[in-house]
Amino acid sequence: MNSIYSYDLEDLTKIMQAMGQSSYRSKQIFSWLYQKRVSSFDEMSDVSKSFREELKKNFNFYLPTISLKQESKDGTIKCLFRLKDGEEVEGVLMHYVYGYSVCVSSEVGCNMSCAFCASGLLKKKRNLLPCEMLGQVIAFDKMLRERDPETHVTHVVVMGTGEPFDNYDNVLSFIRIINSPFGLDIGARHITVSTCGVVPGILKFGKEGLQINLAISLHAPNHELRKQLMPIEEAYPLDQLIPAVLQYGKDSGGRRVTFEYILIKGVNDSIDCARQLAKLIAPTFGYVNLIPYNPVMENGFERSPDENVELFHNFLLQKHIKSTIRKEFGSDIDAACGQLRAKHVK
Ligand code: SAH
Repeated sequence: MNSIYSYDLEDLTKIMQAMGQSSYRSKQIFSWLYQKRVSSFDEMSDVSKSFREELKKNFNFYLPTISLKQESKDGTIKCLFRLKDGEEVEGVLMHYVYGYSVCVSSEVGCNMSCAFCASGLLKKKRNLLPCEMLGQVIAFDKMLRERDPETHVTHVVVMGTGEPFDNYDNVLSFIRIINSPFGLDIGARHITVSTCGVVPGILKFGKEGLQINLAISLHAPNHELRKQLMPIEEAYPLDQLIPAVLQYGKDSGGRRVTFEYILIKGVNDSIDCARQLAKLIAPTFGYVNLIPYNPVMENGFERSPDENVELFHNFLLQKHIKSTIRKEFGSDIDAACGQLRAKHVK
């Protein structure tokens, strides 16, 4: 039996029609689930008793539960979520001046094996279902509303453990549910999907007609270096990735991507790297989000010193590349990708 939380409005409408219902039924159910937040069919008082019984036979209300919660001094909250098969994934809530953002995991483990990342320490076990990504957002949203009814989740980034374009369909359904005005109603421009550079996924995503933000984890400005840090570079090298980003821009009506670039001391933080980076991405008009590396394991990688980060940043600005340095959250609570789960599983 599937969770009712795994269907986007379009899919649910088709199912309702197949069950002999009118198409507004799915909107009714959506508003019970996401606006009124009920957790049983019996509470859906404008649905007939007989049809409620039929719904009960076909769907459950499964969402992941919280198995561990860590709260940072800066207000960041990180949770481990337990799934129905006993697996665990992590999600993080961050408080920005502009609102509350949830960083969602999209898979149990990850197969991308980036050299610097703790998520890949545990290989991918399976894709997350739409309801399992949604559950992370709903749990944090509930937490916020209980503390202050005026606050709620305003932004979602699919940047936790997993490669979203390795679980494309489920991620898209999840996005449609949170973006729907009948669902969580989170604006497309408040939603970001981050990929390590799965080219077919980028091309497909550009044609979805959504106004969602796309982030590309770049981390190196040339093939040789990127190959050492990110095995995906073997499958989809930069000379395919950059054209795919250009194509994405055309297909999506001129949307610009954000390039994420972790700064690792002595590895990719030289001015020469900044020069190569500026040249590589200039044609895309993309933004660069510089991320001081968060040392997460014994791999010899260290954070780039603040002076280097500044120099790198200023160089990009001089070259007219829009660039920001990412604010850090929850450094006291294992908030970097995959850290909490990796520790817990150990
Ligand atoms: N697979 C997707 C999304 C998950 S990773 C992707 O690669 O984009 C989310 C971001 O966190 C990526 O940019 C990733 O490279 C970065 N990241 C991973 N480990 C990190 C660490 N230890 N310090 C800083 N950023 C890290």
